[in-house]
Amino acid sequence: MQQFPFCPNPRCRWHKEAPKGKWAKAKGFYTTKAFGRIQRFQCRACHTTFSSQTFSLSYYVKRPIPLPDVLGRITSGESLRAISRNLSVSLRLVTNRIDRLARQAIGLHAQALSARVSTDDICIDGFVSFDGSQYFPSEIPIAITAHSQFVLDFSHASRRRSGSMTPAQKEKASLLYARCPLERGAIAQSFRETLESALALQPPSPHRPFVLITDEKPDYRRVLHRLEAFRNQTEERRLVHWTIWSKLPRTIHNPLFSSNYIDRELRKDLAHHHRETVCFNRNVANGMMHLALYLLAHNYLKPFRIRAPRGSRPGSHAEAAGIPASWVRQFAHSLTGGMRMFLSRLRLSATLKRTWEKGWKTPGKEKTEYLPKYAFM
Ligand SMILES: [Zn+2]
Repeated sequence: MQQFPFCPNPRCRWHKEAPKGKWAKAKGFYTTKAFGRIQRFQCRACHTTFSSQTFSLSYYVKRPIPLPDVLGRITSGESLRAISRNLSVSLRLVTNRIDRLARQAIGLHAQALSARVSTDDICIDGFVSFDGSQYFPSEIPIAITAHSQFVLDFSHASRRRSGSMTPAQKEKASLLYARCPLERGAIAQSFRETLESALALQPPSPHRPFVLITDEKPDYRRVLHRLEAFRNQTEERRLVHWTIWSKLPRTIHNPLFSSNYIDRELRKDLAHHHRETVCFNRNVANGMMHLALYLLAHNYLKPFRIRAPRGSRPGSHAEAAGIPASWVRQFAHSLTGGMRMFLSRLRLSATLKRTWEKGWKTPGKEKTEYLPKYAFM
């Protein structure tokens, strides 16, 4: 009999870890068009039935397409429509596979973070794009390590369009904002979330203060100064805020290099973040899934320095940030071929959980996003 490491039912006492030995019994077969005849099993504790498919990334898939292919196309910047055309599948199917890959990446990232062995200064900056139309700009704060360009966490905020507008544009804007009200203080809130995530991952210690590097935006200072960890800091638990003048050349010597670097990569690689793009993001929750997959692939699959000394294999950003090589290999192996990640067995930050559950709101869209039942497990 096949051995499964845990029971897939989140309410079962064997969900976190199953006992050694035969804890499930064989219980008949079922047939699917995509995968043929499959053995079914039943948990002896909770009597839930399941199969190897329950643990598979292709759970409930009716039409299998190679996931490494989808991943390769996403990381090399192919737009969703281009992927759908090139693979001759629907846009919905492409979105579904990106969701599966992104959830898998989020789960593997959360696990790898718990094994991280070093700390670094943290850069946070808001990447500016837009959702739906230029009237709904978005700011995506990304917490990234200053010396290894390893993305820890990211959030999203919708805001009103600023800058000069023609009278016609102003009228359209006021009509739109009356119809689709935006959350107040969203920018500060999203910055706070990423900052809190970074702080939780590497709290200040007597040997190392927590160093936050941002530009001079007053919002950032305000949020930080309200934070309890900042107000009640002690000699042993210091928080340092290093603000960088925006006119400083954007070279590798700029302390905000990591933020500038990831900004440039996103702009270059993701079709829906190109300037003046027509492939812009129409749905925030889907856009965040796509972004999560891209950023986490950047962490674990892209070499830290392309031009490594001759003969040495360049490590990934994750290895440069102190994630053991075995976890990086695990990420690469399990992203497209490993056992499916279960939300109930993970500890995620508030923002990663929202991305997983498609909890991001698209301006003007009231309905909550559809989430398949398996995504809650
Ligand atoms: Zn069970």
